Amino acid sequence: AKEDGRNTYKFYTEDMTQKVFERIALESKLRQSIKDENFMLYFQPQINGKDNRIMGIETLIRWEDGHKNFISPATFIPVAEETGLIIPLGQWILRSGMQQIVKWHADGLYPGRLAINISMLQLQKHDFISILEMLLEETGCQPQWLEIEVTESQIMKNPEQMILILQKINKLGISLSIDDFGTGYSSLSYLKRFPIDTLKIDQSFVKDLSDNEEDKAITKAVIALAESLNLRVIAEGVETEEQKSFLVSNGCINIQGYLYAKPMPADEMEKMLRGSL
Ligand code: C2E
Ligand code: CA
Ligand code: CA
Ligand code: CA
Repeated sequence: AKEDGRNTYKFYTEDMTQKVFERIALESKLRQSIKDENFMLYFQPQINGKDNRIMGIETLIRWEDGHKNFISPATFIPVAEETGLIIPLGQWILRSGMQQIVKWHADGLYPGRLAINISMLQLQKHDFISILEMLLEETGCQPQWLEIEVTESQIMKNPEQMILILQKINKLGISLSIDDFGTGYSSLSYLKRFPIDTLKIDQSFVKDLSDNEEDKAITKAVIALAESLNLRVIAEGVETEEQKSFLVSNGCINIQGYLYAKPMPADEMEKMLRGSL
């Protein structure tokens, strides 16, 4: 038994060492890739489920490590946050997203608002608002072409501070959306005080909509909540006709998910905007 215990311990430390090495390797690759601008923005349309028209677009970052390996943002965004690299990376995302939306408008296309995911660490930087203003000016992007997405759990970590920051963003004319809604325990009193436009129903509720009664109830409750607060509501991760029809018939018209389109590079998104995809 003692022997076993020691082996287990040894295995555990080797495993930890391995993890630490992987983390350090990932961090240095990430640092280099930010210098080299080795990232791409992908775009996923948000569709009106009643008439199938594009209402807006969410941008999602993609990282190809130089060896044809795609690393998921779910893996590297947390590392970027822990290391502070999210600040330069986040600024690159904002600038590139703004440049793209400006280009589409200049080409006479109607992409709707571009939703950009922002990490709370970025929002909390004292110069975030002045960077936003600088980028709007630099790119010629209209604030009403943008929506900023922040997750509910991040906002609720420090709601009083967030209200002040969100108010400043709102004053600039940029819309705000609460991402992954339903997972972060907002209180109604805070929701009323956040200057937000949109609630985004978390995809974990959408996933089992067809057979999970609890998820149906939560989804209906979020839609009712949005209605009563006069907010737009959108569902993400919609993959089936069945999920879509449940959502649309219960009042959630805005649909995002593989049912319509996966996130795609800018040129494909452009074809779709031109109605040729
Ligand atoms: P999120 O903001 O909640 O984005 C939704 C995720 O669901 C995206 O994964 C998207 O590709 C995926 N998705 C969309 N439709 C479907 C569907 O029908 N089914 C399924 N199963 N998945 C769907 P992705 O692109 O891997 O991004 C993962 C997370 O990484 C995002 O979650 C967001 O938290 C973060 N992220 C992505 N891009 C950015 C970014 O530019 N900035 C920041 N700060 N975070 C980002
Ligand atoms: Ca999002
Ligand atoms: Ca989400
Ligand atoms: Ca998420």
